[in-house]
Amino acid sequence: MISRHRKSWPAAVEIHPASEAASILQALHRGCNTSVLPVSLEQIAQLVGVVRVIRKPLRRSGRLLPVNGRYVIELDDSEHPFRQRFTLAHEIGHLLVARKAAEVSFSQNGLVHCSLDPHLESICDSIAANLLMPRQEIERRLGDASLSLNSLSLFAKEFQVTLSALAIRVTEIFDEYAFVLWKYGRRPGSARIAFRVHWSATPRGIFIPKHDACQPECVVEATCKHRRIYGVIAELDLGSLRGPHRVQARPLSPGRSPEPRVLMMVHLDRQEQRVTSGFSDLGESEPCPSE
Ligand SMILES: [Zn+2]
Repeated sequence: MISRHRKSWPAAVEIHPASEAASILQALHRGCNTSVLPVSLEQIAQLVGVVRVIRKPLRRSGRLLPVNGRYVIELDDSEHPFRQRFTLAHEIGHLLVARKAAEVSFSQNGLVHCSLDPHLESICDSIAANLLMPRQEIERRLGDASLSLNSLSLFAKEFQVTLSALAIRVTEIFDEYAFVLWKYGRRPGSARIAFRVHWSATPRGIFIPKHDACQPECVVEATCKHRRIYGVIAELDLGSLRGPHRVQARPLSPGRSPEPRVLMMVHLDRQEQRVTSGFSDLGESEPCPSE
């Protein structure tokens, strides 16, 4: 899954996801004037020593296997192709981290998929995001655009990534937007069912607690009920996010989760003066893989 924790890896195996990904992409595009979207992960995999990418039923999203000094990556073929792309990029991340580690202290024979190590997983997620959504391409395509949840879906299709992955990347690069994924359910230990924060992606300095009940509930409920994208200026009281803000909300496809989920985008660029009562109907929710 996409990790929400960004902690530092021990200094001995320090790896900088952005620079590692940038040097791979540079090597891939050497001799070309323009980079091409979607990024060709199969080419990148070959470049870093992967001999085969095998898609088959798996109990996990993917894994990296050492085979005679080279590597094979297996992916669960039941997942959406965009999700498989993120997993492939994540496994390439494992390979890069393992190589870096091997340079410092231990041999590649010791390679293990450390799925229980959240630090390692967050580094591999970050490498995956940098490979699939290079900063330069995000800035070039999204930098001038006034983003909406509809335009974000179109960009997600262009990059062939899930909406959640792109939302997280947007908050890493720009500081004008925050995203909250609401999921209908209970807080652990509580009986009250409501839309609650499942995850959030925010620029540095903004904190939204997990499991907080939804505000503004009305727009989230309406968007879920009518399967449309709605915009409103709403009073927020979400962790450090307070006061009237322009928000948009859209329902997400069911995916692997049976509970209704709604993605909300908050515009942070300027504080609004007043709250609006009615919703602007921003159109039908385009199908787009969400997670
Ligand atoms: Zn992993």
